[in-house]
Amino acid sequence: MTKMYIWIKYDKKDFSVIVCKFGGSSVADAKQFVKISEIVKSNQKRKIIVVSAPGKRTSTETKLTDLFYSVYELASKKLDFSIPFDLIRQRFNEIALDLKLNTNCDSDLDNIYRELTSDPESISVDYVVSRGEYLSAKLMSEFLGAKFIDAFDLIQVDIHKRVTTAGYQQIAKRLEGFELVVVPGFYHKSADGELRTFSRGGSDITGSILAHSMNASMYENWTDVSGLLMADPRIVDQPKPMESISYREIRELAYSGANVFHDEAIVPCKIKGIPVNIRNTNQPEDPGTIIGPVPENPENIVTGIAGRKHFSMIYMEKNLMNQERGFGRKAMGILETHNVSFEHAPTGIDSMSILVEQNSLKEVKGLVLEELENQLSPDSITITEDIALITTVGHGMNHHVGTAAKLFSALAEDSINVRIIDQGSSEINIIIGVDHIDYEKSIKSIYTAFIQG
Ligand code: ASP
Repeated sequence: MTKMYIWIKYDKKDFSVIVCKFGGSSVADAKQFVKISEIVKSNQKRKIIVVSAPGKRTSTETKLTDLFYSVYELASKKLDFSIPFDLIRQRFNEIALDLKLNTNCDSDLDNIYRELTSDPESISVDYVVSRGEYLSAKLMSEFLGAKFIDAFDLIQVDIHKRVTTAGYQQIAKRLEGFELVVVPGFYHKSADGELRTFSRGGSDITGSILAHSMNASMYENWTDVSGLLMADPRIVDQPKPMESISYREIRELAYSGANVFHDEAIVPCKIKGIPVNIRNTNQPEDPGTIIGPVPENPENIVTGIAGRKHFSMIYMEKNLMNQERGFGRKAMGILETHNVSFEHAPTGIDSMSILVEQNSLKEVKGLVLEELENQLSPDSITITEDIALITTVGHGMNHHVGTAAKLFSALAEDSINVRIIDQGSSEINIIIGVDHIDYEKSIKSIYTAFIQG
């Protein structure tokens, strides 16, 4: 048997620092602020706190970030934006009033209102939506008696949108020595000195960057679920929780549709080997899920299953394709020209399938087909829509014979037609493509075979 050794040298952790990020539902109202205070005070190591903008209190309510986006959209069309704006004001004022805080959100909001009414072009959408996190952190810092440090003055990225080594050091320098600090999540300073937000859900990234900077012993990510589940609870009835999962596995699952932790947030912690603990603000006694380095002896074959719908498959056949130099490169080049990125590209001796997001192809489908025809002269070319991709992930799959056989037998027994098979090159995942109609059934079938069965 081949033995493989992986040697990763991590810096010594600072065991006196835990970075905590609290998501939108954790800061939704005054009651949630009180829960956070109890969590923070129950462990002195919880010194760096990152907060999102207040989220929904009920399933029908709108998150403040979404309200800010509506405000900006209406203002930029010179339409009346007072309804969403007043809702934002009300939510912040309610929290401040309930907690008897002195922080006055009104003056910040008045300034934005004035600028949006007089000259909406003078103010960027990123700046407007970032005020959700900014004001949330202002309120939280007063409530916790903590130092407020603005993310704009703290986190600077380079032209590749990454924090440099020097940047991480500067963050550490700025944060050192404070007993308790609150930082707004979601935004940073760009290479050209502008305020920019990360992609949606990006407060997770802020927390990870700060944990990396401080070489924290742990990055706690507090949300409204007690950790990650092995499958989507809307599809599988009461899926089992995961005790632990590796950085690589979570990246694969997050990218494939699992929706708890931002996939880009893994990297800063992974580089330093800092464990990420997904915890529940409403049930702080639950241990949650630990995301960390690869376990030596994975307990389960499969760690989790996730999937996404709405892919298109471009399928080309050409005799002796295998002998033709540059076929794949040219095909990818055509997609690149039309700004379509590919997700997977399983190939055969005389065939090639390319999977792309359906939406990204919508406007340019005709042009892409024409150019593929003209430049590659395939014998046949088809586009199939409404494909769902399902990823089954687990380091354990590497250690067990017959995993793929078990997966495909389960699908066959449930009469599911597998349209595409792609065993990821990382050897920790098997990706299958099925018709939309078979999506839920396939996930249930794989879950039953590996986890419940
Ligand atoms: N508030 C932002 C969003 O809704 C960022 C975050 O919560 O992480 O995407």
